[in-house]
Amino acid sequence: MSQANNKQIKIAIDGPAGAGKSSVAREIARRLGIKYLDTGAMYRAITLKMIREKVDLDDPRQVEEVLNNTQLDVKEGNIILLDGEDVTAEIRKPYVNNMVSPVSAIPAVRRRLVQMQQEIAARSGGIIMEGRDITTRVMPEADFKFYLDASLMERARRRMKEQLAAGILDSLEEVAEEIRRRDRIDSQRADSPLCVAPGATVIDTTDLSFEEVVNGILLIIASS
Ligand code: C5P
Repeated sequence: MSQANNKQIKIAIDGPAGAGKSSVAREIARRLGIKYLDTGAMYRAITLKMIREKVDLDDPRQVEEVLNNTQLDVKEGNIILLDGEDVTAEIRKPYVNNMVSPVSAIPAVRRRLVQMQQEIAARSGGIIMEGRDITTRVMPEADFKFYLDASLMERARRRMKEQLAAGILDSLEEVAEEIRRRDRIDSQRADSPLCVAPGATVIDTTDLSFEEVVNGILLIIASS
């Protein structure tokens, strides 16, 4: 695909927690000069709001009420503003990790965020978006669809490294348990579960370096 076509290119990436989707997508966006949207951050921000408001997730009225009274903005660089407050760092904390999959399984939450994501895609020209339902629900018509995976322990190691850099000191076992639990909920929920979309290229990144994954994806795009 030529540089000129990048202006309109749509790339969708899904996969389980810690498969490297965010860092790979950010780098591809940089190399192609297109926008990058981290959809997980949006689910994390709504989760933070639900936690702060002590919402009973089994009560649809409470959930709707909070959704209707929440202002979510995604700024340049995937800075997340929740009711005007920059929560970009807060949403990475373990107490949010622990609640994000149950909140993301609620259809009303998904409806609201999928709509926002599709609006962002429609007005942004070239974009790479990553999450759990981008290839299946948000941009099933994307020019390129990828599913990034890696072994559980490799994903836990990568996540732990990121968390350490942010000053979070969970053990490898704790991180592995947390992502195992999240993967289970994300892939078993009724509304747009994590799965491999028809036509998606599956890349097992367990034994690949970051550069190998990025270059592999760029090669597939360039040779189409
Ligand atoms: O990508 P990240 O690990 O930050 O995503 C956090 C959580 O948000 C996932 O475990 C999943 O429950 C939810 N999510 C989702 N759909 C997306 C992106 C994230 O359900 N498109």
